[in-house]
Amino acid sequence: MRVFNGDEAWVSELEESIFCTCPAQTKKLIQYKVFVNDLNDLVMRGLCSGCHTIAARYVETGEDPEKVERIKEVVRERKKG
Ligand SMILES: [Zn+2]
Repeated sequence: MRVFNGDEAWVSELEESIFCTCPAQTKKLIQYKVFVNDLNDLVMRGLCSGCHTIAARYVETGEDPEKVERIKEVVRERKKG
């Protein structure tokens, strides 16, 4: 497993900070895919682990395209493993 200079922790943090109204105490984004929108912001689209409905997390990275590449890299590596 490669080391991502803290990106791995950052991705975990994003996964766990989704907004969902279900009563589950711990929820995170699962089975998601990463997209980049027109503004070069990151969109993580998947399911809430608590209720398995569609959930998404938007990350404004428009001013930091490198960050977009890094998060995509983390997700790619995870799928391989
Ligand atoms: Zn939920």
